[in-house]
Amino acid sequence: MSSDAKRPSTDPEGRPALSPETIAVMAGRGPRVPDGPLSAPVVFAGTYHAGGPVGYGRDGNPTWAALEETIGTLEGGRALAFASGMGAITAVLESMTLGAVIVFPADSYMGTRAFLADRSRRGRFEPRIVDVTDTAATLAACEGAALLWVETPTNPLIGIADLATLCAGAHRSGAHVAVDNTFATPLLQRPLELGADVVVHSVTKYLSGHSDLQLGAAVTRDEALWGELVNRRELYGAIPGPMEAFLALRGIRTLPVRLERAQASAGELARRLSRHPAVTRVRYPGLPDDPGHGVASRQMKGFGAMLSFEVKGGAEAAEAVCAAVRVLTHATSLGGVETLIERRHKWRGEESTPPSLLRMSVGCENVEDLWADLEQALDAPARPTRSQEG
Ligand SMILES: *Cc1c(COP(=O)(O)O)cnc(C)c1O
Repeated sequence: MSSDAKRPSTDPEGRPALSPETIAVMAGRGPRVPDGPLSAPVVFAGTYHAGGPVGYGRDGNPTWAALEETIGTLEGGRALAFASGMGAITAVLESMTLGAVIVFPADSYMGTRAFLADRSRRGRFEPRIVDVTDTAATLAACEGAALLWVETPTNPLIGIADLATLCAGAHRSGAHVAVDNTFATPLLQRPLELGADVVVHSVTKYLSGHSDLQLGAAVTRDEALWGELVNRRELYGAIPGPMEAFLALRGIRTLPVRLERAQASAGELARRLSRHPAVTRVRYPGLPDDPGHGVASRQMKGFGAMLSFEVKGGAEAAEAVCAAVRVLTHATSLGGVETLIERRHKWRGEESTPPSLLRMSVGCENVEDLWADLEQALDAPARPTRSQEG
């Protein structure tokens, strides 16, 4: 990660502010007392002795609290952990009043989009679908809206939305702003500082980082909204398991080094892919000619490790690449140490995605191994299949 030039030099108490990389390692630890454990213990508790502020397992847990302190400090707000990203996302959306107008990105996580469509059919929400990389159109849609939902980078087209301008404009229209910060992570982008009211995460992805659990989080500085979210978690029951919370926190400890490696490799692979004869388009905000490059350079500390590219030969050629990889893994999801690739168009609700678009979540393997594998996989469609060889 390049710099932390925008970091304040002191915290509110006048102590030198720590950089996010250090916070990821230090936050959510117990007191430094003899024989105190360095890591928050996993507390398996369905209930607690009476008289305390928590009382019952669905209402709080010390392992969640350690994770929440860490994610909250990284995002610059107060965090709540949920059973999954969708648990956090639905808690935020369900905190809106009945019939609320929600301005929502066309290019976005399909689960959130499906939830909004499902609830809207029953009259719960009134959605307005926009291209959040088009600032003027998005702000025009915010008139009379209760909430603007933003993802940036977008999924799977890796577009960039201008968070500061969108937040200021949406607030002028009286709309709140929620940002799904899963792709960027708080190390690269801090939406609350850019004006967002709430940030959500699929902790399943980069924060936990090992493709071995599901977890979510919502972070806000708005006390009233925080209270609403606490209620939603208690009443809907989308609570994290303590073991998942422990593993996610363990994962966050290495987020800065994982992301640094993954991001460097993503930049390198994006450059090489954009010169490859089988590739027609690469979408990565780190490429100087990418439409999102300018805004991303201003609002992000780095360009992240997600990229998409289209190949010659359409859906069939793209599927052949997925079938041919040996170092990369053909699987959905993102943010783990393993590099994943998949063709997005095949999913329901992604019919508008280019058929040959491959989304790649770059992991921590050696970049030359990744490139060699990609090169041989990109050659695969041209290679005669066994049956053709006869
Ligand atoms: C995966 C994902 C989600 C959903 O998170 P889960 O943990 O799978 O519920 C939400 N938003 C984005 C951007 C995601 O990638």
